[in-house]
Amino acid sequence: MRPSVREFSPTASELGKYVCRQCGICSDALQELFRLEGYVDRQMIDHLEHDPADYAPRLRLSGWFSLAETARKRYAERRFDREGLLAEARRVECPYEIDVSRKTRPAFAKLEEEDPRLL
Ligand code: SF4
Repeated sequence: MRPSVREFSPTASELGKYVCRQCGICSDALQELFRLEGYVDRQMIDHLEHDPADYAPRLRLSGWFSLAETARKRYAERRFDREGLLAEARRVECPYEIDVSRKTRPAFAKLEEEDPRLL
């Protein structure tokens, strides 16, 4: 039998400290927000420091599936409780050392086409 996403939680160090593994600790709504963020750019644009040689492939991969428009449409229909999710994110201790509070702000910004540097 195939393991569910929540049972299968490899370290996946190549995903770094930004890509949500959907481990189930965050609420369904917060995990859904991160899935939609993944549709925008595969969670590749993290606004963290990277080796410049690593940045160009990240940019290329970020638009691989061209699903940003779909993600923003679904996001608009979903009507997330932004303040509630930001409050939840401040309390989450992610086993993959993702700074969930920090991550949530650019996730919203990407889906609302805001400039994440202004958040
Ligand atoms: S705790 Fe980390 S990996 Fe788990 S759902 Fe939240 S952000 Fe994703």
